[in-house]
Amino acid sequence: MKSLIFLGAPGAGKGTQSKKVAESNNLMHISTGDILRKEVKANSELGRKAKDYMDNGNLVPDSLILAMLADALKAIGEFSGFILDGFPRNINQAEKLDEMLLSKNISITNVIYLAVQESFLVERLSGRRICSSCGKEYHVLFNKPEKENICDIDGEDLYRRSDDHSVEIKNRLSTYHESTNPLISFYTNKKLLDEVDASQDINDVTIELNKKIS
Ligand code: AMP
Repeated sequence: MKSLIFLGAPGAGKGTQSKKVAESNNLMHISTGDILRKEVKANSELGRKAKDYMDNGNLVPDSLILAMLADALKAIGEFSGFILDGFPRNINQAEKLDEMLLSKNISITNVIYLAVQESFLVERLSGRRICSSCGKEYHVLFNKPEKENICDIDGEDLYRRSDDHSVEIKNRLSTYHESTNPLISFYTNKKLLDEVDASQDINDVTIELNKKIS
């Protein structure tokens, strides 16, 4: 079983890459951000609890995230493994993940750090657009849809995430530096960390990632 974590700052391309790599390798794509956005849209109890944290670019409390992840991991048997995208986001989540996986006799096989210079991140996040129906991601400069603001796949409108605006982006980046960046040493010490230059063209990054995990 391949058990992967994609680590990186907001805007590094974790979502785009993990979806592509998961699909071509029969891995389950588990994005805690995507799950939370669905819960917010459905106005569920979890969604209502998480919304303010997300809107402001802060981390949702670990207790909520860990329960959500335990639930998501129940479906991994149907796949050849999984990619965690946006989880863990701090050391406590990483430690709890180890415990959760240990109880299932699974250990993390690779942690891949998608490295991008800070100056690219704001540009990537502020230009990101997402299909309101299928969730496919575009960029107004680097990955344009054929028709402006319309998804190539299903013709639905694209939207900009509410946390992809400048104040929220700034807060997400500082949350990343404070809470998530320490995971780089955490996984380096466990000899699990591998790095990919994620400032390259999208397809080149995918090729490199596929090589690393094959
Ligand atoms: P993302 O789509 O990964 O950028 O996540 C969007 C937002 O969801 C984040 O800014 C957080 O508010 C929340 N979130 C996603 N994953 C986590 C996590 N593992 N821990 C805490 N909050 C999270």
